Amino acid sequence: MTDHTDTAAANQPLKGHTGAPLWLLAELTYRCPLQCAYCSNPLDFASAKEELTTDEWVDVLTQARAMGSVQMGFSGGEPLVRQDLEILVAEARRLGFYTNLITSALGLDEARILALREAGLDHIQISLQASDPDVAAAVAGSRKAHEKKLAMARAVKAAGYPMVLNVVLHRHNIDQLEAIIALCDELGADAVELANCQLYGWAHLNRAGLLPSRAQLEAAEATTQRWREKLASQGRDMRLLFVVPDYYAERPKACMGGWGSIFMTVAPDGSVLPCHSARMLPMTFPSVREQPLREIWYDSEPFNRYRGDGWMQEPCRSCDERHRDVGGCRCQAYLLTGDPAATDPVCELSPNHHLIEAARREAADDGRTLEELTLRNVHESRVFCRT
Ligand code: SF4
Ligand code: SF4
Repeated sequence: MTDHTDTAAANQPLKGHTGAPLWLLAELTYRCPLQCAYCSNPLDFASAKEELTTDEWVDVLTQARAMGSVQMGFSGGEPLVRQDLEILVAEARRLGFYTNLITSALGLDEARILALREAGLDHIQISLQASDPDVAAAVAGSRKAHEKKLAMARAVKAAGYPMVLNVVLHRHNIDQLEAIIALCDELGADAVELANCQLYGWAHLNRAGLLPSRAQLEAAEATTQRWREKLASQGRDMRLLFVVPDYYAERPKACMGGWGSIFMTVAPDGSVLPCHSARMLPMTFPSVREQPLREIWYDSEPFNRYRGDGWMQEPCRSCDERHRDVGGCRCQAYLLTGDPAATDPVCELSPNHHLIEAARREAADDGRTLEELTLRNVHESRVFCRT
């Protein structure tokens, strides 16, 4: 692997150009009652250090708000396993954040919905695994979860919340998109994120068993478009967002709007990351237990390493599009090439684009059933824990 110490040191000082972390993601915990085979949590989450306490989280929120953060998400793992969630939501609201809860709905009930409402929570996003209970059970490793999610989605709407439903799409549920959107419509969603699986964390481990074919993808896009027209003709205001999988794109996404640009994630143990996947990169991220957030965001080496374009290699370095997509995703570059500073292989101009084509071929030849995917749980995670 290339050593990027020199590259990073050669970067222009960017502190003066760096804006505030407008978006804060508070990953309260890696604990979760589900075991989704595409979970983006780190493979070695079982080795994570002790979670931040309530007081430590309040301090994080206070520091972030003072830096100019305005929008925040509570996620995990499953954030509802934290019994202090309502306290943290109330504190975030008091500080002036717009607050989102990103949840599986496991751990939710009518009383908690009310308590979160009283605490000032603005918005709830619930994940669904499928419309078919058997598929949902196999993906999440739980027989009971699906019914619970449906009941809680109805309760959230009954409590008057704006509700986003998030459905991660992959080759085992994408052909059921018609029924999935119909279910979201019936549940009264205000918006639906049809998010093709991002291949990080556990999803990368299961990549060949999750990646859909191009034909599946095109059919799903056509279904989404038909539904958009149908909803519009009915005057029904349910937004459908279809997120194309990176592995079928011609250019990479501008990951997180650029490294250390607007997104800041605080992991359960206080590590501060430019995105929720970055923990798997071969670098050590600072912790709020050791340094103030402001110093981490503006001055720390990891946050400055991929800011601007001084770190880029060819073909990005001389490419006219480098400010539009910032060379793509550092995690994807690392996962596919072993070099986090490489051009994201998703880009057709990348010398490593053949790795994406090979992954698509590998997936086409993979006959794994849903039940044969590796589920995300503590037992499996221990295999990846460093000693
Ligand atoms: S993706 Fe599934 S397993 Fe991972 S945190 Fe979300 S609900 Fe839990
Ligand atoms: S070469 Fe780099 S900057 Fe140019 S389009 Fe591809 S990823 Fe973007």
